[in-house]
Amino acid sequence: MYNIIQKNQSLCHLNTLRLKSLAVNYVEFSDINLLPSISKYIKEHKCQFFVLGGGSNILLPEVYNGLVIHCKLEGVACISQNNTSMLVRAMAGEQWDKFVEYTTLHGFFGLENLSLIPGTVGAAPIQNIGAYGVEVCDFIEYVEVYDVLEKQFKIIKKKDCHFQYRNSIFKKMPNLIVVAVVFQLLKEPILNLEYVDVAKCMTGVTNVTPVELRNCVIKIRQAKLPDPAIIANVGSFFHNPILTNGIVNKLKSNYNNLPVFRVDDNYSKISAGWLIDNLGLKGYRENKVGTYEKQALVLVNYSDATQTDILDFANMIKNKVKQKYDVELNIEPIIIEKG
Ligand SMILES: Cc1cc2nc3c(=O)[nH]c(=O)nc-3n(C[C@H](O)[C@H](O)[C@H](O)COP(=O)(O)OP(=O)(O)OC[C@H]3O[C@@H](n4cnc5c(N)ncnc54)[C@H](O)[C@@H]3O)c2cc1C
Repeated sequence: MYNIIQKNQSLCHLNTLRLKSLAVNYVEFSDINLLPSISKYIKEHKCQFFVLGGGSNILLPEVYNGLVIHCKLEGVACISQNNTSMLVRAMAGEQWDKFVEYTTLHGFFGLENLSLIPGTVGAAPIQNIGAYGVEVCDFIEYVEVYDVLEKQFKIIKKKDCHFQYRNSIFKKMPNLIVVAVVFQLLKEPILNLEYVDVAKCMTGVTNVTPVELRNCVIKIRQAKLPDPAIIANVGSFFHNPILTNGIVNKLKSNYNNLPVFRVDDNYSKISAGWLIDNLGLKGYRENKVGTYEKQALVLVNYSDATQTDILDFANMIKNKVKQKYDVELNIEPIIIEKG
C-alpha cells in the first residue's frame, strides 16, 4: 500500500483557483478495494485527510501536511426502471457535466438546469449543488459511501443526507468518502423554468427535450461565468444570505432593485452578488485577487495567489457588505487548513 502514497505532490493544477499548494502525502484511487488500505494508513499515521474531486469548490493551503485522497472512480450504469423513471448510478470520480450530458442524451429529465457545473459526481451531494431553481437533492435516491473510521461501505438514503441550501450531512462527516451516487431521473418532462433567463431562452420551444434545456442553460452560464480553464476561480464565493422576511423587507425598502427569492413563509434568499455589485466592487482588483468583471460574486486568482491572499480579499468584501447592509456573508468553498 505505502508505495501508492506519493510525497510532496503539487496540487496547483488540481484546483480550479490554481492556488499554489503542496500535499505532503497524496494518493489517487480508481478502485474501491484500495479504501480499506487507505483507511489503515490514516489510522497508523494518525494523519488528517480529505477527499479531492475536481478541486472546484475548495481553498487549499500552501502546504497540507496530511493525506490528500484523490477520487478517480469511474463508471455510469442504469440500474433499474419503471414506466416513469430510471435509476442511474454514477461513480464518484465521474465528471459531473459529462454525467449530465449522458443523462440528457439518453432522454432522462431532471439534471438539465445543473449543466456545466464543474467538478465530480461525488462532490455534488456534499454541498447539494444547485442552479436555476434546481438542487441535486431533488434527484438523488441514495449515496454510497465508505466510512474511513468504521472501515465499512454504507448506503445513506436521501432522507438521512439532511440536504439544505448548499449543505448536507456530509459536510459534518468528513470520515465518509462518497464512492457512488444513485439518481432517480424522469422519463417525462417536469421542467423547471422558474428563472427568467431560462424561461426567456426556452420561449417558443415546444416539446422540450432534455438536450434543448441543457443547451439553453449552457448558453446562459457561458455568457455570465468565467471558464475555470481560462480564468482561475471557484464559482460563487459567498452563499446567498437567507434572512427573515422582516429583514428582507427592510433591505428592499432601501434598495428596491435587490433580487429576492422566496424560501418559505418566513424566509427569503437575497442575491449576494447584487450586494457586492451595488458597492461598486464588480471587476475590482487588489494585486493578485479580484472580482470577475461580469459577476461580482466570483473571485478570481489573477496570478500566483495563496489561500491567505484570497481570504484577505474575501474578508475585505465581507466587512464592506456588513458595514453597508448589516448582512453577514458566508464563504461557499471549503477552506482546508494545513492538516
Ligand atoms: C465556474 C464555476 C461555476 C460553479 N457553479 C456552481 C453552481 O452553479 N452551483 C453549485 O452548487 N456549485 C457551483 N460551483 C462549485 C463547484 O463546481 C461544485 O461545488 C462542485 O460540486 C465541486 O466539485 P469538485 O469535485 O470540484 O469538489 P472539490 O472542490 O474537489 O471538493 C469540494 C468538497 O467536497 C469534498 N469531496 C469531493 N469529493 C468527495 C468524495 N468523493 N467524497 C467525500 N467528499 C468529497 C471535498 O473534500 C471538499 O470538501 C462552481 C464552480 C466553478 C469553478
